[in-house]
Amino acid sequence: MRVVEKVNDVRATVKEWKAKGLKVGFVPTMGYLHEGHESLIRKASEENDRVVVSIFVNPIQFGPKEDLSTYPRDLDRDSKVCEGAGADIIFHPENEEMYFEDFSTFVDMNGLTAGLCGKSRPTHFRGVCTVVTKLFNIVAPDRAYFGEKDAQQLAVIKRMVRDLNIDIEIIGCPIVREKDGLAKSSRNTYLSIEERNAATILNKALTLAKEKIQSGERNSKVIIKLIEEILNSEKLARVDYIEVVDSLSMEGVERIEKSVLVAIALFIGKTRLIDNFTYEL
Ligand code: AMP
Repeated sequence: MRVVEKVNDVRATVKEWKAKGLKVGFVPTMGYLHEGHESLIRKASEENDRVVVSIFVNPIQFGPKEDLSTYPRDLDRDSKVCEGAGADIIFHPENEEMYFEDFSTFVDMNGLTAGLCGKSRPTHFRGVCTVVTKLFNIVAPDRAYFGEKDAQQLAVIKRMVRDLNIDIEIIGCPIVREKDGLAKSSRNTYLSIEERNAATILNKALTLAKEKIQSGERNSKVIIKLIEEILNSEKLARVDYIEVVDSLSMEGVERIEKSVLVAIALFIGKTRLIDNFTYEL
């Protein structure tokens, strides 16, 4: 496995692979890899002949008060994880390789990005759509793998690929969790022991909400209230949002009558964590 820093390098290699008729899978990440990322890389390596993983902490998807400068980084460790999971190349560009000083073109989206994380992080999805478009143009894979942990992001990428006629198959992969149910996240490393214990409230609330829907509750307000009460019982937690939305349009629903996404963003201390489940009807 090679670590490649230059756009032209990764392009040339992928072109060679494609000339031989090989299928290429791609996993975009911000690094500090855990078993969630690993599951995406493994799936990509099962379903393709070659796999590219990008590791790039994309500055334009962070807001001015967010954790860009403290975001955890460890390329040596990440390289081992990638190699063990079957990656062939890590694309690890410098900021200057991705963004010219006078960079001025962005990909943005209406509608799907209005609520949930798009509301709390107003420039986030513009940054995500722009970097993912760039990475798709650089790597030109056949398939790209994204986690359901970032459910809104997955919906946004699927919509972007459809709207802009990008010829890449987008594949969603299930959320990988710690033993106690907390969704794996690079940001979990920010948590103190006390905060880490408190963070289990996220999955507890979602599990109880799912049971409530399974037992026949169809009123979204009742589900949101239930989640709110559970989250508020944890003194280290501060709710960013609790939403029940249509799983395709990401628009809020009053009644749960078709497939919905139940999604939460929660601050534990200064750390913002997200989690969700999709309920198929
Ligand atoms: P990130 O490095 O956080 O930008 O994540 C890179 C990719 O890994 C995204 O598609 C995420 O949705 C996915 N991912 C992150 N955490 C998990 C998890 N716990 N389970 C499954 N996929 C995940």
